[in-house]
Amino acid sequence: MKILITGGAGYIGSHCAEIFKEKGYEVIVVDNLSKGHEAAVGNAKFYKGNVGDEEFMYKVLGENKPDAVIHFAAYSLVGESMQKPYEYYKNNVCESMNLFHSLVRHDVKNVVFSSTAATYGQPEDGLITEKTPNAPINTYGETKLAIEKMLKWFNTAYGLNYIALRYFNVAGAHPDGHIGEDHRPETHLIPIVLQCAMGKRERMKIFGGDYPTKDGTCVRDYIHVCDLIDAHELALKHMQKTGECGVYNLGTGGGYSNLEIVETARKVTGAPIPADIIDRRPGDPPTLVASSENAEKILGWKRRYGIEDIISHAWKWHSTHPDGYKD
Ligand code: UDP
Repeated sequence: MKILITGGAGYIGSHCAEIFKEKGYEVIVVDNLSKGHEAAVGNAKFYKGNVGDEEFMYKVLGENKPDAVIHFAAYSLVGESMQKPYEYYKNNVCESMNLFHSLVRHDVKNVVFSSTAATYGQPEDGLITEKTPNAPINTYGETKLAIEKMLKWFNTAYGLNYIALRYFNVAGAHPDGHIGEDHRPETHLIPIVLQCAMGKRERMKIFGGDYPTKDGTCVRDYIHVCDLIDAHELALKHMQKTGECGVYNLGTGGGYSNLEIVETARKVTGAPIPADIIDRRPGDPPTLVASSENAEKILGWKRRYGIEDIISHAWKWHSTHPDGYKD
C-alpha cells in the first residue's frame, strides 16, 4: 500500500515514514523543509514543496497515486502561534484546505490527521476524553480544531474519510537512535533535560513549582513516538475497513510531573542534571492527561513503551547526535 506522508521530514513525520517503511508500506514524503530536516527522510521517496500548492500536489499525487495520506505538515509551536496568528492560520488551515481539495480532485479517500490536546485548552482536572469540550487557549490549538472541523465538512460533502488523532506529549525516538527530535530552537521538556545531561545546557529551568499537583510542578501525559505511529496505522486500517471517521485521543492515561521527568532522566543518563524552579510559563495548564480508551477499544491500540523507555530512546538519539541533524 502507498502512503503519502506530509511533514515527513519533521520529528513525528520522519518516525512515521521510517516505521511505515519497516512495516512494508511504500512511503512518499512531502515536506517544504521549513522546519524539517532532509536527513530525517532517509531513503523514502521525497518531494520538496508546500502541501497547499495545488499544482505541485497535482504532480505528486498524479505520479504516485497514494492509497492514503497522513498529514503532519504544520507549524506547531504554541508560543510562536500567539505572535504569528496569520502565519499559523495560513500555513496550517489554508495549506490543509488546499491539500484536502487536491485529495478530493485525485480521488484519494482516506486521511489521518495529526491533531493535538491543545484543542481542549485548560480542562478541569481529571482524564480528558474526546467528549471533554474543545476550548483552545492558543492559536495553534485553534488552527488544528479548525482543520478537524473542515475535515468533517469535506467528509460530508466530498466523501473524504478522516481520522484526527489528538496527541498529548509526544516524546522519545526510534529505539535504535538513528532518528529523533531536533527542533530549533528546542522548547520541549525531555530534549531540554537531555541537553542538560549532555552538558549542552548548564541547568534546567522548571517553570512553576506552585501548581495544584503531586509535587507542585505541571503533570503531562508522555507517549512514545513509536507507539503514537502504531496508532496511525491502526486508524488507517480502521478507516479503510469501516469507512468510519472520528477523533481519538492518544496518550497513556497516566501523567508525570516535570520533576519526575528530571529524576527519571538522572536515573537513565547517570548525569546530575541540576534544576531550578522558576516562575510559571504563561498558558501552561497544571495537568493534561488523556483517556485513550477509545483508541484502545475501537482501534485496538496498545502502547508498548513507558517513561523510562521514552527517555532512554531519546537519550540514545541525543547522545549520538549532540548537534541533531547536520543541515
Ligand atoms: N517545561 C519546563 N522547562 C523547560 C521546558 C518545559 O519546566 O525548559 C515544562 C512546561 O512548562 C510544561 C512541561 O514542561 O509544564 C511540558 O512542556 P513541553 O513544552 O515539553 O510540552 P507542552 O505540554 O507545553 O506541550
